[in-house]
Amino acid sequence: MSEDSTIDRPQPNPGVLDIAPYVGGESSLGSGQRVIKLSSNEGALGPSEKAVEAFKAAAPTLHRYPDGHATALREAIAERHGLDASRIVCGAGSDEIISLLCQAYSGPGTEVVHSAHGFLMYALSSKAAGATPVSVPEQNLVADIDGFLKAVNENTRLVFIANPNNPTGTYLNAQQIQQLHAGLPKDVLLVIDAAYAEFAGEDGYTDGTDLVSAHQNVIMTRTFSKIYGLGGLRLGWCYGPDHVVDVLNRVRGPFNVSSAAIAAGVAAVNDTDFIERARRENVENRDWTTAQLRDLGIEVTDSLGNFILMHMPDADGAEVGTAAADCDTYLKSQGLIIRRVGGYGLADRLRVSIGNREDMEAFIAAMQRYVGGQRS
Ligand SMILES: *Cc1c(COP(=O)(O)O)cnc(C)c1O
Repeated sequence: MSEDSTIDRPQPNPGVLDIAPYVGGESSLGSGQRVIKLSSNEGALGPSEKAVEAFKAAAPTLHRYPDGHATALREAIAERHGLDASRIVCGAGSDEIISLLCQAYSGPGTEVVHSAHGFLMYALSSKAAGATPVSVPEQNLVADIDGFLKAVNENTRLVFIANPNNPTGTYLNAQQIQQLHAGLPKDVLLVIDAAYAEFAGEDGYTDGTDLVSAHQNVIMTRTFSKIYGLGGLRLGWCYGPDHVVDVLNRVRGPFNVSSAAIAAGVAAVNDTDFIERARRENVENRDWTTAQLRDLGIEVTDSLGNFILMHMPDADGAEVGTAAADCDTYLKSQGLIIRRVGGYGLADRLRVSIGNREDMEAFIAAMQRYVGGQRS
């Protein structure tokens, strides 16, 4: 920081300069080389054709402001998920909703609780709001309910849990989520980030809808960036109690979701065949990739998402993350971009998004060469 940084020029609010800007997954290797991008959990199928058509069809009316209530989209989501449209708010990605929740419910002198290896935006958005993020250690890469409840005090306003979590892929079952909620004071808002809910078909998993419906202090967030393959569109939504919906509608921008996003979102929600295929192929390719890696002797965390986390143990005495960096460098040399997760406190792990079968075969072939030491 330059020496005159505290005088003679505008200063941001406390906490803002503590934010390490979010760094997304890399997307190119700079050499013009063809790459397989497995670094941002983007849908393996790309966007649905129907969503693309609807997006194009919206082009001639782009001079018009969108419907500020995204009514058609909320109604489509409500119908698809059996929810009440009046309790849905749409946003420019679920990142915007996370940010709005921090802005509206936390601030200087308050605390926001999240899991140690939870999604990074919770800490970033709470700092942006001037609040203090509180990180709760995990047990074997799974969120620790008792740890969460011990971390909550009279200053706590929000508790964030991604279920399943990114980047670990682990989850709490319906009963555990309920237990977490039951231990929270009534004035603490539990945010269940279900960005990967559509991928998570396991027994006992809940996206949190049931808790939202039953209580005044639970909200669920969702995104179009993962299974829908629309990350570039910036579209997310949440389902919450009336009073929280009312607050979000006051703090959000009046036109926070574009008309093209509304149109494409409606088409995407209604393209149920696409979602079913994306879910099925993800399970097949995730299970296949996990089994192949385990055959190579690599420890892989069981994942409910469209990504997996590999453990790259370091040699004795080596700096933590040396092995992960080495593997990442090799994969890059083979045109494969995956994600290092040191920013999540997991320097000795690598996160790999599940692409299509061809992508995953290329990835496994490269890992076989890497483990075999034949680094061509
Ligand atoms: C990708 C992701 C999001 C959201 O993304 P948007 O693109 O902003 O909708 C939210 N939470 C988790 C856990 C994610 O992995």
